[in-house]
Amino acid sequence: MPLKNITPFPPFTRYYRPNQHLTNHQMKNSGGPLKKFPNAKAAVDAFNQAQAALPLPDFGDTKKTFTHLSDADLKHSARMFNLMGKSWLTDIMATIGVPAVKLGLPGAAYMVKNTVYRQFVGGTSLVDAIPTIEKLYEQNVTSILDYGAEAKSTDEDYNNFMKETLRGIDFSAEAPAANAVVVKVTALAPDDLLAKLNDGNIDFDDAELAALQATLKRLDAICAQAEKRDVHVYIDGEESWMQNSIDQLADRMMARYNRKKVIVHNTFQLYRHDRLEFLKASHEKARKNGYRLGTKLVRGAYMVKENNRAEAMGYPTPIQPSLEATHRDFNAAVRYCVEHVNEISTCIGSHNEESVRLMAAEMQKQGVPRNHPHLRCAQLLGMSGNLTFNLAADGYNASKYLVYGPVKEVLPYLVRRAQENTSVTGEMGRELRMIREEMMRREK
Ligand SMILES: Cc1cc2nc3c(=O)[nH]c(=O)nc-3n(C[C@H](O)[C@H](O)[C@H](O)COP(=O)(O)OP(=O)(O)OC[C@H]3O[C@@H](n4cnc5c(N)ncnc54)[C@H](O)[C@@H]3O)c2cc1C
Repeated sequence: MPLKNITPFPPFTRYYRPNQHLTNHQMKNSGGPLKKFPNAKAAVDAFNQAQAALPLPDFGDTKKTFTHLSDADLKHSARMFNLMGKSWLTDIMATIGVPAVKLGLPGAAYMVKNTVYRQFVGGTSLVDAIPTIEKLYEQNVTSILDYGAEAKSTDEDYNNFMKETLRGIDFSAEAPAANAVVVKVTALAPDDLLAKLNDGNIDFDDAELAALQATLKRLDAICAQAEKRDVHVYIDGEESWMQNSIDQLADRMMARYNRKKVIVHNTFQLYRHDRLEFLKASHEKARKNGYRLGTKLVRGAYMVKENNRAEAMGYPTPIQPSLEATHRDFNAAVRYCVEHVNEISTCIGSHNEESVRLMAAEMQKQGVPRNHPHLRCAQLLGMSGNLTFNLAADGYNASKYLVYGPVKEVLPYLVRRAQENTSVTGEMGRELRMIREEMMRREK
């Protein structure tokens, strides 16, 4: 069913949300708009009751998960996850495959393109990615456009990333199948500049000041265009030695562009022990300064790097003391954002089934409509389809982070995906098991 045919989120429920700061405030000042619309209250009650009676999504329903894949596609995915389960092969890819593609050795790019690239990347350009975007949208899954440029270091690279992101915004504004763009601040500015700003250092020379201003201009151009065209911006979270700078830039953009609605979203990495408090403080800051907070909740991708650096440089690691502590804070952040859904717009970026189920359960408990515009769940293209497609089939806002770009550009991303999907992490086992189940179901 096309997204536009799904019952829209009824706007009046905004006025009838018990336990919500905004609602209580409005009710106190106005006497409650629902008093004047008794039928609206009845409709909202009926809607909430009907929703509360619905079962939570079944993430084991492989039919829903793989509707969009042909038998041949399924076989390809099974081969891929099988291959990636062999850690020696992913090591070869990282050590030999990457330089081979970079050097333009014959056949190398072709091989990557027909294996991991096909599994995890939408296309070489936006236009090339359109068939994938459309295929996702046929299952009510929207695309968050992520131009896969990494490790950039020249002004030309930074400007190219900005231009590509602006194209993504215009594309999303025209095509309901895409709803947001991803911004990596590290693709807009030099890492050492972000690291210097991170420590509160203001002792910049002229060249650094000019670079800082250019960075702000690029980010501002992206956020201004996104506001104008009503497209969400997700600013990616990075390593802690740059994240403070990114937070400052994100706060500035939110204060400027999140006044009427939420456009800009910052990332909160809950594998850091200080981020739950930071989330609450960011919410308070937004309230005080009259703008809305946009968040993307993730656990965090740079744990080993963070721990190694902290040990080598002799400072306490910012990472949680255990996986359980990360889960605890991530789930607390999910609860917090659902509880404050009228004030915070959230994208839950996770492949953890328990956390996604928690989001659905909390929404049901708090009477938040499944298609509330402030709540969305996203997974990476090619991974955890059982979460994305099954949520979308049940009427939740579900998206894929759709990475696109030429083979050479997205190589570091592909290596990370391949390494993450080795059997060591258990990721591969989960994906492969579900694919095999669906293949068996289809054979019956
Ligand atoms: C849509 C989307 C967007 C993303 N954007 C970003 C981003 O902007 N920045 C970013 O950094 N990451 C990002 N990620 C990656 C994310 O942070 C995780 O690395 C990845 O999703 C795995 O976490 P999980 O919640 O899916 O599930 P799980 O597999 O349940 O959790 C694994 C995670 O738990 C944490 N962990 C594992 N062991 C320990 C331990 N011993 N102690 C403490 N913590 C531990 C690590 O963060 C690890 O990645 C994104 C992921 C998605 C799906």
